[in-house]
Amino acid sequence: MVDNESRNHRLKGAYGLSLYIEYETTYLVFDTGPSSDLLQLNAEALNVDMELIDGVIVSHIHSDHVGGMPYIGWVSPYTKVYIPYDSLLSLGRTARSHGLVPVEVSEWMNPWPSVYVSKPVSGPPWEHFLVIEDSGRLVVFSGCMHPGVAKTLSEISTYFEDKRIYGVIGGFHLANAPKKHVLKAIDSLVYTYGVRKVVPLHCSGELFKSILSKEYPDIYVEAGVGATVEF
Ligand SMILES: [Zn+2]
Ligand SMILES: [Zn+2]
Repeated sequence: MVDNESRNHRLKGAYGLSLYIEYETTYLVFDTGPSSDLLQLNAEALNVDMELIDGVIVSHIHSDHVGGMPYIGWVSPYTKVYIPYDSLLSLGRTARSHGLVPVEVSEWMNPWPSVYVSKPVSGPPWEHFLVIEDSGRLVVFSGCMHPGVAKTLSEISTYFEDKRIYGVIGGFHLANAPKKHVLKAIDSLVYTYGVRKVVPLHCSGELFKSILSKEYPDIYVEAGVGATVEF
């Protein structure tokens, strides 16, 4: 629903991230973009039925991920929003004042069948990740991945032991990163963890996207506002 880039004239892009996720009978919003106006505009144009969502996951406290919470509270009051560790007095208050029910994430959680919220990983800031597990394969949803690729994926694969990380979608925080750093992240994704689908959005950076698309066209998936990705 929100990404830095839009390829559809009816939808607006802006620096930030918001994903609408459907998994079996669970409907979720992961991050909310920089503003309510933008989230509303794109969600309505995409016919996302916000009243039906089961929950919201806000990955970390940066404004380009939390700004759309008032809109969700307005259309879908009493929805639980999973907020970062140590943010009850800041983000938690905002969520409550807009009719949402904040839940602070301080350890691994399993709020819906096969759907997990990771323990907080320090970037800084504290950031948690959404993980969906299906038939032994994992799909990871990332806001900005401030802790870095290696630290984040190690935390997730340690928790799930023998299960494989199949896909990663969202921010990779590699815009402006030196090439050496970008190559290390790709190496970790492709070879250390054997990830099969990488969908870089938001703060991932052009270099990361262009190397992936050229060297690993089967793994790279291009997306943006209005795109649908199926795992
Ligand atoms: Zn961000
Ligand atoms: Zn951030």
